[in-house]
Amino acid sequence: MIYLDANASEPLRPEARAAALAALDLTGNPASVHGAGRAARACLEDARERLAARFGAPAQEVVFTSGATEALAQVIAALGAGRRVIVGATEHPAVFAAAAGAAILPVDGRGVADLAALEALLTRGGPALVALMAANNETGTLQPLAEAAALCHRHGALLLADAAQAAGRVALDCGALGAAAVVVSGHKMGGPAGAGALLLGPGGSALAPLIGGGGQERGRRGGTPGLAAIAGMAAAADAARPGEAMAGWRAEIERAAVAAGAVVIGAGAARLANTTCLGLPGVAAQTQVIALDLAGFAVSAGAACSSGKIARSHVLAAMGCGALAGEAIRVSLPWNATAAAVAAFAEAYGAMAAGSSRRAA
Ligand code: PLP
Repeated sequence: MIYLDANASEPLRPEARAAALAALDLTGNPASVHGAGRAARACLEDARERLAARFGAPAQEVVFTSGATEALAQVIAALGAGRRVIVGATEHPAVFAAAAGAAILPVDGRGVADLAALEALLTRGGPALVALMAANNETGTLQPLAEAAALCHRHGALLLADAAQAAGRVALDCGALGAAAVVVSGHKMGGPAGAGALLLGPGGSALAPLIGGGGQERGRRGGTPGLAAIAGMAAAADAARPGEAMAGWRAEIERAAVAAGAVVIGAGAARLANTTCLGLPGVAAQTQVIALDLAGFAVSAGAACSSGKIARSHVLAAMGCGALAGEAIRVSLPWNATAAAVAAFAEAYGAMAAGSSRRAA
């Protein structure tokens, strides 16, 4: 099986595996005062400092969570209270679930947020919280976060940047961005699943918890932290760097796909180099995913991430893709992709497309 579904979960990096295994051997609870507790605490704080340094945030404003979903829910509940919430049309379902009734910021055909519309939304009404993802999970489209942050600052709004897909793949400097909160996820960087973090901006110390309890994380997230997943996340973040060969490999796949009749969705936008979204007119996404699975390739369709069933993608619908929204697959190259795997996939995609059109004829 050739794994090309990194945006669902990156394969575990060896550095992350080693750090997680070492943390598993620490018996103590980081909240205990004895030596075993202090050793666990040192591991936790080391992870916090490494993650903070990697993404340009103050260590005391890093809050560990179970993942990006929890982190997004917490920020939207805490900072959205008493504010109008504005969310990008292509945000992850975790954002929509936490922001019922939010105003939707439209995107263009490439999936890029409409900044003029953002300015108009910010101009009318009271204080706002704007949730905008750094990179989209289905298309890889990068949002103009710096420009959005500048608009938010000008209008006294807070920015929440979901960097679950961007962290480790493109440059991310929380200090320079000036967002109220940036969200990252361990398993999207090559760490174990079960850890994420909130990187808070100025004023973050006062963030209300979503889960109360023993006062962990300076009162911002109750519960004993999952040390192994957290240590693995920090090691993964340190190891994750934009892959130099990725853009070339993606171009190779896209050339083969277009030659086979596919449309590259989001082409023309700045995108994550590891991600391509390929629409094949007339062939249901599920049919493509199954055919490629049988051929030995793990890829996914738009909204498959939670339930295992394939629904029409809200991301592609927001981009105005029409019927293609149900006919697109996502190929996301993992950190350990190889030239041979890419070449094999390019060939298999062509065969899959040819087979599908023969069956349709
Ligand atoms: N945000 C984005 C952009 C994602 O792609 C995902 C997962 O697919 C999430 C948030 C949720 O991340 P987690 O699995 O860490 O809860």
